[in-house]
Amino acid sequence: MDGSQPPMLPVNAQRRCPICGKPNWCLLAPDGKTAICPRTAEGAIKRAGDAGWFHIVDPDRVIPLLAPAFKPQNTVKVDFQRLSDIRRERAEPRLHDLARNLGVSVDALRRLKVGYNDFDKTYTFPERDGQGKIIGILLRYRSGPKKRIRGSKSGLSYADAWDNGSGPVLLVEGPSDTAALMTLGCNAIGRPSNRGGYAHLADLLSGFPNDRNIIVLGDSDCKLDGFWPGKEGAIQTASEVSKRLERTVYWALPPDGVKDARAWLNEHGGDNPTSMRDCFMEGLRLQEITPPPVIRSFVPFQEPISLGTYRQEMLKRRLLSLDRPGIYLDRSMTGSGKSAIDYRVVLNLFGRTEEVA
Ligand SMILES: [Zn+2]
Repeated sequence: MDGSQPPMLPVNAQRRCPICGKPNWCLLAPDGKTAICPRTAEGAIKRAGDAGWFHIVDPDRVIPLLAPAFKPQNTVKVDFQRLSDIRRERAEPRLHDLARNLGVSVDALRRLKVGYNDFDKTYTFPERDGQGKIIGILLRYRSGPKKRIRGSKSGLSYADAWDNGSGPVLLVEGPSDTAALMTLGCNAIGRPSNRGGYAHLADLLSGFPNDRNIIVLGDSDCKLDGFWPGKEGAIQTASEVSKRLERTVYWALPPDGVKDARAWLNEHGGDNPTSMRDCFMEGLRLQEITPPPVIRSFVPFQEPISLGTYRQEMLKRRLLSLDRPGIYLDRSMTGSGKSAIDYRVVLNLFGRTEEVA
């Protein structure tokens, strides 16, 4: 036996000796082509020391060692950016078909970097984090639950230039609805499902101007038992994003009682969908979600000050709080003069101005 070959392995019940047929004592090469059998001398090539007789195994009886079973890993590293680029090339000749099928524009699908997988004949949609990085790929099957390529994280569907610089942004369910709103000329971002993606949304929208609305659009998918995942998800998403961005966020359902933005577009879009954008926007009944108050202590620790100075400061802050949103919280201790300050603030409201230090 050549010393460079892998060592022979003991036989067992699953991999018996091909010479004597027993499950013990004998040795078998990993490729199954040679064996050392201590029981059978007949047909052997040579004696293999004390181990037995060295045999060349009849090709019909060769049992190669099975490769170890593939163990799925939780941490699959996939270059989704590269994979997405490959898929996009495959999708290009098919985009018109998909656009016609969904009733959205080819341009919207192209901007969302829609891909195609030849293997299972599926369109794919990349999902991105709040920084624009592609972190997963969603597979579009005609029915059944949503599936993603292994190793994918769920993220947002949006174009590089998702913000055209004016009007609100609509946070809608999934890439098809995002494409529908883009076809209408809206600023749209697709959420991974009826809820979720809050951190990515907050990241992406952190610089979105305060004078333009953020609107979460839920699906009108009310179930017979009254359960309404689209609406409930929209309310939760608006609350979460509002809390994270510390600003007002709205939620709404699609106009005219249709199921979603794509259904509306398919019904009303016509040949010039961008002219229908205002119609769509006017049909939304916006519900406001305001962020919960954030309590910040002014100063964690201060040098002791006199009660007079303290009251001056209390009055000044109380007056400053009057025209501002949020809750004014005064945790001054009993006897520090809160009632007196309230009285002076009321006087101030009725035009009896006070000197404010
Ligand atoms: Zn044997």
